[in-house]
Amino acid sequence: MKDFERLRRDCMREVEAAGICISDRITFEINRRARTRWGLCKKNRDGSFRIQIAEILLADERISEKSCKETIIHELLHTCEGCMRHTGRWKQNALKMNSLYGYDIKRVTTGSEKGIEDYKSSELPVKYVFKCKSCGAVIYRKRESRFTRNYRHYICTRCGCAAWSRRKVDGENGNMVLCSGEY
Ligand SMILES: [Zn+2]
Ligand SMILES: [Zn+2]
Repeated sequence: MKDFERLRRDCMREVEAAGICISDRITFEINRRARTRWGLCKKNRDGSFRIQIAEILLADERISEKSCKETIIHELLHTCEGCMRHTGRWKQNALKMNSLYGYDIKRVTTGSEKGIEDYKSSELPVKYVFKCKSCGAVIYRKRESRFTRNYRHYICTRCGCAAWSRRKVDGENGNMVLCSGEY
């Protein structure tokens, strides 16, 4: 089990040494149930922050301390002014930490990048959205399949028509895996 207190203090020191101003009102929790995200940063109504780190990051020996710190820093960076999203200043600060310390902090990190197996498919981002042009039924698909390739030949189970429109969801915008801060 990694020493969370020590890692957390190291991370805060490194962020501050980089000249990045994070909140001084952060509480930390270890989330023992989290399976779908490494960390979470929530802004409370009073302007303070709550950061959760998944216990698996601390407990799984296959995950390096560096990898664990990347998640802690990812979440710490959300506590900067106007940084709840993964764009703008959050992104600039993440790149700064990466270049200064050799981290690989980014918006979404897969299990295999952390050194363990990838999460089950329900955590994959949605790749395609199909819509029945006849009845409006909507289907989401996260990976390529016979249906995503040959959708024109499939009928809608609701209305019996074969009239799907297909939209490919790509990049930041359509990604349905969140880090609000969540991943
Ligand atoms: Zn239909
Ligand atoms: Zn985030």
